Amino acid sequence: MTPEQKKAFERVSSNLAPYVIRQYPKRLDLENPISQAYLYSRNQDGTLKSARDVGVKHASELFLEHVNSIQREGGVFTEMGEEGLARPGISADFPEIESFLNRSDRRKSHDTNSHPSRALRIVIETEAVQLVIFADSTEPATLRDRRVEQITDAVSRVTKAGFSIPSPLEFYLPKYSRGIHLPSLRVVDPWNSFADFYAPNKIMLSPQLLSTSPPNGAPDSVALELGSPSAAIIHEIGHCLHFAHAPERFVDLFHTKLSPRYQRAASDISGYAARNPHEFTAEVFTAATLKCTIRPEQGELYRALGGPLPARSAPQRTVDRALLAELNKSHFNNQRTLAAAAAMRTTAEMSRNVTPLASLSWTGHVPEADRTNSRKFQ
Ligand SMILES: [Zn+2]
Repeated sequence: MTPEQKKAFERVSSNLAPYVIRQYPKRLDLENPISQAYLYSRNQDGTLKSARDVGVKHASELFLEHVNSIQREGGVFTEMGEEGLARPGISADFPEIESFLNRSDRRKSHDTNSHPSRALRIVIETEAVQLVIFADSTEPATLRDRRVEQITDAVSRVTKAGFSIPSPLEFYLPKYSRGIHLPSLRVVDPWNSFADFYAPNKIMLSPQLLSTSPPNGAPDSVALELGSPSAAIIHEIGHCLHFAHAPERFVDLFHTKLSPRYQRAASDISGYAARNPHEFTAEVFTAATLKCTIRPEQGELYRALGGPLPARSAPQRTVDRALLAELNKSHFNNQRTLAAAAAMRTTAEMSRNVTPLASLSWTGHVPEADRTNSRKFQ
């Protein structure tokens, strides 16, 4: 790559330049739509051309890659019958084992995901958004229902906090997102994630979010601090709304990190927020949805990066203050959102009320609004 190309690659649009730095990565796929856009597709004013399309193309490729590797490697594989399955506490770390124990043919020494074309499609209509959930029809209904409840709980909280969600919003729930090999309990994890967003409207969730304690290797995030798998889903919805709200900025933030002067403000949200501008935005969104305190400089950075604002925000002139007011305000008494929550209804056999976050949490206890009381994990 020539010095000119390197310079082109490292450029970010002028509205992001005070906040982020893009560095040329050690390894770069020049065929990737994002790399191509950085090198060749900027307008005179520095903004990206067709940013939304570029973001969707990139995400579609990634989604396909992840689905394929999960199909290929996800499952439970035993070499010596069910030896190793009786280990105490195994279901806390490996909630997918329950799916294996309930496989259709108990004589089989392994179980994998069903083909995606046979996925169970669950449609949940709320007043605010249509949720389309793709689940594995061979997963035990008890597990599937808990996963669906985590989703409806997260969506309900985002709606109550005043944010608009693009509709339909799709969720993909592979029965297995990693390979578990018994009796050694060797784990092959090609996806290497618990939850991911793919523009414009797909979110994939690992069954590991069913763990009764935070999964090993869970990032140092707001969700971890609150001990809440629903918060991990809210984080992904945050990425989705960031893309919907400001696709040019979202797509211009790959391979970037926050400017040094903002690192501290970001790490005060969470360790994960300081990792890069995308994670910062999703983490502030999660904190805001769960009514944690956001400091003015964190709010300023969030807004500059294109962080989604509640739909009920004030006119542009006062948007700074409005954001902070909205981010700190409880929306739970708002009649309109209460009505929306009450209207949340499900189709098929999935009909039930939204379960409170606490009953779905990793700790069994999540303070509703106060992070200072929240437990930390080691
Ligand atoms: Zn994230």
